This record gives sequence, structure tokens and C-alpha cells, in this order.
Amino acid sequence: MNTYLYSLLNQAFINKKQNELYLRSLKSKKTEDVYPVIKNIHKQTFNKISCLECANCCRTTPALVTKNDVKKISNHLRISAKQFLKKYILEDINGEMTLNGVPCKFLNKDNSCSIYEVRPEACRRYPQTLRQTQQPLN
Ligand code: SF4
Repeated sequence: MNTYLYSLLNQAFINKKQNELYLRSLKSKKTEDVYPVIKNIHKQTFNKISCLECANCCRTTPALVTKNDVKKISNHLRISAKQFLKKYILEDINGEMTLNGVPCKFLNKDNSCSIYEVRPEACRRYPQTLRQTQQPLN
């Protein structure tokens, strides 16, 4: 983890109470008032962070996978959907599927994704702050 990420983690710990109060205060605000705030924080933060330096999400959080993801990725890997499910997927009792194991089996040593072009929809949505803005970030 780089120094900036450590400092963010440290600041989050030190300011935990203030952050919780701030997050609670956002609940009373109108959605359209919150988006610009999130967009601004997202821009400031991701100007200083490269996911390729970190990849903590890919190391620690099994990505959700849809049926469409299964089709796309198994085609890409040139294996059957059945083989893909057996080798790479965990399914819970509700039928929800995730990639099995962490770190992700598709994570390369240099933190890149070996199936980047066909990565699951859930991975495409990272970081979630980007999604929250519901508008493209420049
Ligand atoms: S599929 Fe790629 S982007 Fe998604 S968790 Fe695995 S390595 Fe990360």
C-alpha cells in the first residue's frame, strides 16, 4: 500500500466519529445536492490513487458474477460455462454467484486483471463512488 493510502487510512481512523456524523448528515440532504460532493471527493481521491498500485479490492473481496458474466468470461477463456462455474465460481443458497477465492484468480502479479476486457460487471463498477455520481466523471 502506498504512503497516501496509509495516510488516508490513518486519517479515517483518527476522524472516525466526525466522518460518521458527516455521513449521517448526508442522509437529510437532497440526492442532487450530494452527487457534486461525492464527485468532488472522488476526483480528489482518485487523482492520487492508482488501482494498479493497490488492487486491495481484488485481493480481499470476491466479485459478484452474473449469468451474462459467466457467458462472456467462459467464451473468452474458451471453456464451457459448466467448466467455468466449476473452476471459478461459488454459488450461495440464494443462487448468488461470486468468484471463488481471494486474491482473485484473475489478478496478475503486477495487479492488472488477466480478463480485463470481459471482467465481471461488479468489477467494472469499481470504485463504487464513481457509480454514486450517476454521471460521467471528467
Ligand atoms: S476479475 Fe479482475 S477486476 Fe475483478 S476481482 Fe478479479 S482481478 Fe479484480
